[in-house]
This record gives sequence, C-alpha cells and structure tokens, in this order.
Amino acid sequence: MSKFDLAVLGGGPGGYVAAIRSAQLGLKTCVIDQDKLGGICLNWGCIPTKALLKNAEVYHYIKNADTYGINVGKVSVDFKKNIKRSRDVSNRLSKGIEFLMKKNNITHIQGMGKLISKTSLEVKNKQKKITLEADKIIIATGARPLTIPGIGLDGKRVISYKEAMVLETPPKKMIIIGSGAIGTEFAYYFNEFGVEIQLIEMVDRILPVEDSDVSKEVAKSFKKSGIIISVETKVSKIESLKTKVKVYTEKNGKEKILEGDVALLAVGVTGNIENIGLEELGIVTDRGAIKINQFNQTNIPTIYAIGDVSGPPWLAHVASAQGHVASDHAAGHSPKPVDYTNIPGCTYCQPQVGSLGMTEAKAKESGHDVKTGKFLFQASGKAMAVGNTTGFVKLVFDGKYGELLGAHIVGSEATELIGELGMAKSLETTWEDIATTTHAHPTLSEAIMEAASDAFGSAIHQ
Ligand SMILES: Cc1cc2nc3c(=O)[nH]c(=O)nc-3n(C[C@H](O)[C@H](O)[C@H](O)COP(=O)(O)OP(=O)(O)OC[C@H]3O[C@@H](n4cnc5c(N)ncnc54)[C@H](O)[C@@H]3O)c2cc1C
Repeated sequence: MSKFDLAVLGGGPGGYVAAIRSAQLGLKTCVIDQDKLGGICLNWGCIPTKALLKNAEVYHYIKNADTYGINVGKVSVDFKKNIKRSRDVSNRLSKGIEFLMKKNNITHIQGMGKLISKTSLEVKNKQKKITLEADKIIIATGARPLTIPGIGLDGKRVISYKEAMVLETPPKKMIIIGSGAIGTEFAYYFNEFGVEIQLIEMVDRILPVEDSDVSKEVAKSFKKSGIIISVETKVSKIESLKTKVKVYTEKNGKEKILEGDVALLAVGVTGNIENIGLEELGIVTDRGAIKINQFNQTNIPTIYAIGDVSGPPWLAHVASAQGHVASDHAAGHSPKPVDYTNIPGCTYCQPQVGSLGMTEAKAKESGHDVKTGKFLFQASGKAMAVGNTTGFVKLVFDGKYGELLGAHIVGSEATELIGELGMAKSLETTWEDIATTTHAHPTLSEAIMEAASDAFGSAIHQ
C-alpha cells in the first residue's frame, strides 16, 4: 500500500494548488483525479470560456472596424476553428499542470477516488483498484451544474455550459435560463455570433449578486445589442422536441411558452459530495457542500475540503486560495485564513464586470454611514481613445473613516482593473489613499482615482 503525508482528491485549481503547496512544504503528496488535471476551471470553465469570449470580442472589433477608419471586406466566421482555439488553450494548460506535478515530485493517480477511513482512500480505474494511506486528506472534488426540479439536461436541446462551449454550429435561437456570470457570458458570446438570445432571470435583475447599478448598465448594453431579457420570470417546464425546445415560463401569474433551438441551463452549481465516502465517515455537509472551518478542516480534523465542494463563492481563485490555507495548515503551519470580504468576482462579457466587497445596498444594510463615488468612462480620455466608453467605476466607502468597503466596475477591462482595489482593500486603505495615488495618464485606472475623489467631493473630471 502506498503511503503519503497528504493526498488530494481532485486535481482542479483547488486540488493542484494544494498539492503543489504541500510538496513545496516538503510533504510526500499525491493527487487523484478521474479526468484531466485542471478540473472544470481549465477544461470546462474559466479558461475555455475566456478564449471563446476573446473570439467574440475580436469579431466585434472586426464588425465595427470602420469606426476606427479601417475598411474590412466580407468577413466570415469559421465556427469550428473558433471552438478549436478554445479547446487547444485548455489542453495546453492541462498538460502544463501535468508538468508541474512531475516537477514537484507529486504522484498523479488517475481514477475515481473514495475515502474509506480518516486516513485512507480507495482509487478505482479501468485497470485496477488501489488503496492508499495519507496522514491528511484534502477533498477538492468540485461541483456540477444545478438543474431545476423536474427539468433534466439531455445534452442536445437542453444543455449545460459543457455542451454550450463545444457546439459544432451556432443555433439560431438560444434560451438561456439564469443570468449569473455563466449565463451572461454565454449570452454575450452567442449574441456576438448572430444567435438570437433570450435571457431569463427569476429575480428582478440580471447579475443579481452585483451592485444594482452594475446590473442596470449591463442590461442596458445587452438590450442595445439585441439580447432579449426577461426578469422576474420563472421556468416551470422545458420540452425537448425533435427540432426545437419549448420553455414554459411564468411572470406575474401569466404563462408564456418560448421556443428556441436550444435551452442552456445556467442556474448554478452543486458540490460533488456523493459517492466519496462522506456519509460513511460522518463528514458533515449542508445544502450540497462540505462544512469547513476557517482552515478548511471538516469535522474530522485530518480531512480538509476546498473549492466548489465546500460551497460558495464558486470561484477558481477561491479554490486556489483555500488550497494554500489547507496545505499550510495540514503541514503544521498557521496560515492566514481566506478573507471572504475581499474576493473579486468577475464576469467577462462585454461590458465586463469586476467587483469586490459590499454593494451600496449591503453597506447600508450593515449600518455604515455610506458614501459612494462614481466615475463614468464617458468622461475618461483613455476610454474615448480606445473607443469603449460604456460603464463606470463605483466605489463604496464608510463615510466616517473613509474606509473602502466595496468596488464595482463595469466596462472595458473591468476584470483587470479590479485587482488594484483588491490590494487597496486588503491594505485597509481610505478614499484619500486611492485619490492621492498618482495613476498613469491616460489609463482606464484613472477612473478609480476619480471615483474615490468623487465620493468626498473632489473629482476633477466630472
Ligand atoms: C462555464 C464556467 C465558467 C467559469 N468561469 C470562471 C471564471 O472566469 N473565474 C472563476 O474564478 N471561476 C469560474 N468558474 C468556476 C470555476 O471553474 C470553479 O470555481 C473551479 O473550477 C473550482 O475548482 P475546484 O478545484 O474546486 O474544482 P473543479 O475545478 O471542479 O475540479 C474538481 C476535480 O475533481 C475531480 N473529481 C471529482 N470527483 C472525483 C472523484 N471521486 N475521484 C477523482 N476525481 C474526482 C474532477 O474530475 C475535477 O477534475 C467557471 C465555471 C464554469 C462552469
């Protein structure tokens, strides 16, 4: 029987980071995965979607090239190549993770793993079944798409993100159910390639976790580009027929049947907690996620859980950050727990969204004397120069001490711009620190400095 100091079940961004960190700390480590290394993030999530979204953005620029004084002849799309670029990027990265495993002397075991005791696992693959022992175990089995009760995915007409990113030809009409990050990213992508999109959301606005101003701005831009948005709309049934799909919706007590070629279900995810030995060992779960403490330990101290399987926020960078904490703790160190009040959330449609911390509404609800500052990209020289003036930077401060509570950016490069504010928040900066930090001109980041100044009445350019 093989014996390890630490075994990681799942090789996604949580699992492989935990494994590398553990090896760096001198632990004899193995990582078990039934599929390709990199998990959902590298193979079916973050990375392939960002490659597709870039394809859409390039196409958008080409279609609008005359704005920049460039005449382009007849343009055509090779959709298969569009998809292939995304798959190639994923495959390259997954191989890169394999290389990192070798470089760090981590044993990579392919197969389906299951915990059989507090310190042992069983791994099955086509060839054999093995048992291995480890002093500590990290569960990083990720999550899978959530479905609506009574509505199953058939992979053809009722699909999840997985099928959506490898469609051979774009459908004529797609009905997207759910307007979180995944739903809105696919709405932007397919709409750019001429697919008629109907985006359905159960609550009163799209991107419901974002600040309401951000939701409004993205909705305005989506409507302008032809995406049909239905909010406060519930889907009760989907009929998958031979040539079309029928989506039964209900709004204010009125039923409406929508027809399309494909329905994409993007209503969230649920943790992969089944068949990995949790019940047998008495590991506590709650609503599809493993319960953890601040060091990612489960109720059994030798067993940790990280990433999507430990619940929201379901983000790759959270999984990786938790991987660091869990491995450091397992190796006997005292890591700084993940600060869940400072997690950037990004949506890579156009306009992009990057946000962290409290929304204006949340800050008010939690009793702060709130001051907000806003700067519109319309007034930014750089935004005008690059031809992308949609959106704004909105910062939320505590009025008494000037502390940054939240940041909400919508517009071009928002997902890159938010990084500065993550650092600002972790250093507990005030509006004055941000406003008096000299930002390069002309850059989109000047809008952050201006928004901070605006909150306390000293913005220059608006
Ligand atoms: C379409 C889409 C786009 C996304 N875009 C972003 C984004 O832009 N930014 C972002 O931060 N997040 C994004 N996410 C979320 C991100 O992909 C996840 O948060 C992240 O992958 C979670 O990492 P993880 O390590 O917890 O699990 P996963 O990446 O899900 O990896 C889990 C691994 O465990 C393996 N596994 C499961 N059970 C077993 C078992 N019993 N035995 C062996 N192996 C097992 C699986 O094969 C898998 O490789 C996106 C998700 C989707 C679906």
